[in-house]
Amino acid sequence: APGELRELLLSKIADVPDYPKPGVMFKDITPLLADPAAFGALTDALAGLCEQHGADKVVGLEARGFILAAPVAVRAGLGFVPVRKAGKLPGTTLGQSYELEYGSAEIEMHADALSPGERVLVIDDVLATGGTADASLQLIRRAGAEVAGVAVLMELGFLAGRRRLEPGLKGAPLEAL
Ligand code: AMP
Repeated sequence: APGELRELLLSKIADVPDYPKPGVMFKDITPLLADPAAFGALTDALAGLCEQHGADKVVGLEARGFILAAPVAVRAGLGFVPVRKAGKLPGTTLGQSYELEYGSAEIEMHADALSPGERVLVIDDVLATGGTADASLQLIRRAGAEVAGVAVLMELGFLAGRRRLEPGLKGAPLEAL
């Protein structure tokens, strides 16, 4: 049952206060990754969302999104595409910068990673302000692909990431497990 999955996942996420800086409550997923039942249940749930939303490819956002998305791609029988922080991918890239609370950041994807018309599910661990996920949606659309949805383990509701993401979703679902 979904309620049971939620309880299992919640029980394996540690709250670390004031990390990496004062005032931030860091959501540490390493206990979940270390528990094969919980990690397996999460992988199954995310693979189910791939099928439900008709995904052709899975994009993982650096860094913890990679850990979650890679087994999902294998389980769903889909290819995995990394979206990385700028300067880490060796091939020709598309880049997208976005605003942070202080300053800006940039992410990149290989320009040939997606084919036109492909439907892409974006996976990350935590949706905070939504800036990273929103930038990834722009990369996907610039590559000519379609957004099947965004799936995260956790949504930090008080940061209103869902609201920031909404225009870029253009009706595609945001799923928070
Ligand atoms: P944002 O672009 O603000 O939505 O931030 C999303 C990225 O930052 C995700 O890739 C998360 O892994 C990470 N992140 C932001 N806030 C937290 C938090 N409180 N705990 C763990 N990771 C976080």
